[in-house]
Amino acid sequence: MIREVVVIGGGASGLAASIAAKKRNKDVLLIERENELGGILNQCIHNGFGLEVFKEEYTGPEYAYKFIQDFKSNNIDCMLNTTVIKLEKEKDLFIITLTSSKAGLETIKAKSVIISSGCYERTRGQISMPGDRPIGVITAGSAQRYLNMNGYMVGKKVFILGSGDIGLIMARRMHLEGAEVLGVAEIMAYSNGLNRNIVQCLNDFDIPLFLSHTVTNVEADEFKRLKAITIQQVDESFIPIVNTEKRFEVDALLLSIGLIPDITLLDDLNVEVDSRTKSAKINQAYETSVSGLFICGNSLQVHDLVDNVSKESQRAGEAAADFIENINREKKQINIINGKNILYVTPQHLDFGWNHKDLNITFRSTKKLEKAVVKVYQGDSLIYQKRRSFIVPAEMETISFAYKDLSKEQDIVLELEEM
Ligand SMILES: Cc1cc2nc3c(=O)[nH]c(=O)nc-3n(C[C@H](O)[C@H](O)[C@H](O)COP(=O)(O)OP(=O)(O)OC[C@H]3O[C@@H](n4cnc5c(N)ncnc54)[C@H](O)[C@@H]3O)c2cc1C
Repeated sequence: MIREVVVIGGGASGLAASIAAKKRNKDVLLIERENELGGILNQCIHNGFGLEVFKEEYTGPEYAYKFIQDFKSNNIDCMLNTTVIKLEKEKDLFIITLTSSKAGLETIKAKSVIISSGCYERTRGQISMPGDRPIGVITAGSAQRYLNMNGYMVGKKVFILGSGDIGLIMARRMHLEGAEVLGVAEIMAYSNGLNRNIVQCLNDFDIPLFLSHTVTNVEADEFKRLKAITIQQVDESFIPIVNTEKRFEVDALLLSIGLIPDITLLDDLNVEVDSRTKSAKINQAYETSVSGLFICGNSLQVHDLVDNVSKESQRAGEAAADFIENINREKKQINIINGKNILYVTPQHLDFGWNHKDLNITFRSTKKLEKAVVKVYQGDSLIYQKRRSFIVPAEMETISFAYKDLSKEQDIVLELEEM
């Protein structure tokens, strides 16, 4: 049997994408490697989810539950405990290799595939942290999983490196569970987390944030367990400044040093990749450079808000359904280019072969801007502009405008003009 749409990953993204494709009357199969749907939401027991989609504040599992109910009521086929290990394409069909303890190795064929495989955490090795290699240095997401899903405390005296949202949320979580959280160090001069998380997770509990600081030494005791860490202030080139050392005796160091989209399944497909997002380049239909292959959620770009994951993935699911109805779509695309003060932009292409009314663009800034104007140019013509205040790299921005009158011959450039 050839499936119409196969969705890989059953987190917020895969759920929204598969519901949307199914609502367009397509045959949909979702594959998830864990024994339940929901993805990372299942371990995020704090609130802060759903304000945009549901106009209410839910915890992660509550938010997931809403979508799982919708998924089930739409009778969508689903394989749990099943991992996709290989994705290839032969002519117009995708060949998907799966493995599960129940069925062993299996292969299925599909007309289109949506990648919703989420992201993974950067580890100590990726930032070349000096010092010993003791037990007790762990990524913040793993610590969250141990604590919230398995009931294990990973430490009693804790320090956190990195002020992204997971680091901030884990600082509060460990504090509430009775651990002493001695501080959060951030190498940048600003936090990478949402402003509300700095207030609600650090300031409310008097947990110090050391900006422009990093860990420069890790010490183990005789049992190879973490004994202490040293942090140091860094200069503008991130070089540690002498005589700024502060030593903390801790038994756990949680690393919240970045998330990277998981696109390992694209290895055999020769997909065009963006070095800025570290994921596939897409057009406005979330379609990669491989026709019929779509990508969304954290495997496309690391999101700060799940609501944006759901909205984006719904559009990707609808696009996959549209693709099935018109497989031989003509490609006519222009590039969307990162201009001044833009860290990255998605989509990277606008494809006139797709018939959308509006172009939704998401982007992040390279720096904090108190006041700015978002401008989009095609050649010398200014085709969109909007004032924005308080733009920070930690918060994803979105703009949307109609594109039917744009030239099909010239690229467009997005920039942020500082005011
Ligand atoms: C600690 C933390 C706190 C957050 N706090 C907030 C918050 O307060 N508010 C908010 O709005 N958002 C928050 N977010 C963001 C939001 O939760 C995520 O952006 C969103 O849930 C990601 O959904 P996803 O489906 O893209 O990825 P995931 O949830 O990671 O789902 C990916 C799924 O794919 C599966 N998978 C991967 N590879 C394969 C494979 N090869 N075969 C089969 N299955 C596979 C995985 O098992 C997983 O279930 C937080 C995120 C984190 C990590």
